[in-house]
Amino acid sequence: MQFRTIIEPFRIKTVEPIRQTTRQEREVALREAGYNLFLLKAEDVLIDLLTDSGTGAMSSAQWAGMMQGDESYAGARSFYKFETAVQEITGLKHIIPTHQGRAAERILFGSALKPGDIVPNNTHFDTTRANAEYRGATALDIPIAEGRQPHLLHPFKGNIDLEALEKTITENPGKVPLAMITVTNNSGGGQPVSMANIRSASEICHKHGIPFFLDACRFAENAWFIKVREKGYADKTPLAIAQEMFSYVDGCTMSAKKDGMANIGGFLALNDDALAQECKNVLILTEGFPTYGGLAGYDLEAIAVGLHEVLEEDYLHYRIRSVAYLGDKLISAGVPIVQPTGGHAIYIDAKTMLPHIPQNEYPAWALSLALYLEGGIRSVEIGSVMFGLQPDGSEKPAAMELVRLAFPRRMYTQSHVDYLAEVILYVNEIRSRIRGVSIVESPPVLRHFTARLAPAQGS
Ligand SMILES: *Cc1c(COP(=O)(O)O)cnc(C)c1O
Repeated sequence: MQFRTIIEPFRIKTVEPIRQTTRQEREVALREAGYNLFLLKAEDVLIDLLTDSGTGAMSSAQWAGMMQGDESYAGARSFYKFETAVQEITGLKHIIPTHQGRAAERILFGSALKPGDIVPNNTHFDTTRANAEYRGATALDIPIAEGRQPHLLHPFKGNIDLEALEKTITENPGKVPLAMITVTNNSGGGQPVSMANIRSASEICHKHGIPFFLDACRFAENAWFIKVREKGYADKTPLAIAQEMFSYVDGCTMSAKKDGMANIGGFLALNDDALAQECKNVLILTEGFPTYGGLAGYDLEAIAVGLHEVLEEDYLHYRIRSVAYLGDKLISAGVPIVQPTGGHAIYIDAKTMLPHIPQNEYPAWALSLALYLEGGIRSVEIGSVMFGLQPDGSEKPAAMELVRLAFPRRMYTQSHVDYLAEVILYVNEIRSRIRGVSIVESPPVLRHFTARLAPAQGS
């Protein structure tokens, strides 16, 4: 008998209480946080879906590994364990640990980019974009057209537009020092990229002598989608699929806080000897010696074990299904979400849900506040607060106004998800009462992290 219920493939050994708050308490908390969910105290949140970054539960094997951490400054055993784990998956030559993904981006871009350069990507993640722009380069997003339409079904909406990629390279000679693909496409709805697309992008780049990188944060989730959606991969293991994905690239940046299953960490991996040396020199200056790169030995152990666990089929099946489970409930109730559901998160299409809020009053931000106010749920806006501010200080509305509900790995159970669905359906019912917001105070870059907002005037 094949049973239908897909269970959490673990049992719980340690628990952490979460706290209910009243609507009134949440109203006060919101006001004090300047209507910015990043500025809330985590204790005041019931179910925290702000991010899947570093928030997951580690396994008993990871904790056991941490006890074996070798804290030697140079040449620690833990580094070689970490290096072996990364090399088994990526096949890349130089493995440079960093304290998280953005440090890998900063070090790579610091060495590889100069002002005026262009970096094509399916969609840059916010820190990736900011690090490229900080170097004076242009972060160019060129997803396939289907990737910009929230309700259109396509198995690989994360794919990069290959024609646009080639055009960018040929029309800007000497100005494209590298190209990237983000797997899965986090800012584009957690949508996967097909193996065929990765292979073709790699061929285009290499034909023009341009190094090709993966932003590999969710490589295992992407490998799972290739397994279940792309012809010819059904019988391959997630590890074999991941290995093929990496076989097409010259390097990658990685946040181990995602598919590294760790609470902190990341790495830069690449084949080019000279570039690796330059990156290691910067690493020593800003992160640490190349065998620890800003991490403790025990962090390297946790990542080495996590990279193995993240590729287990039972885990990936449960992981992708938990997201789809919430997605199915929302879709059948008519809540507009990005479809098909992606790897690590549900993205609610706030532009469609709240047509009465203009984009300059940030509908996705307003919706994220309502989810907290009504149900204690913390999500994140992926819309015009996050992306609207241009490097020259002007404002341009984002292509989509999304609210992302990101699932921490191995953290919440099915009843948590049932509760989430109940809250979202309720907020959908009262949606006509949700009002827009305006920005009161904001920093010049990555403003969504620290900006203070207020209910829009006249709303
Ligand atoms: C999280 C993330 C990063 C940055 O990693 P950090 O560890 O948060 O610095 C880069 N790219 C993508 C796609 C991400 O999801």
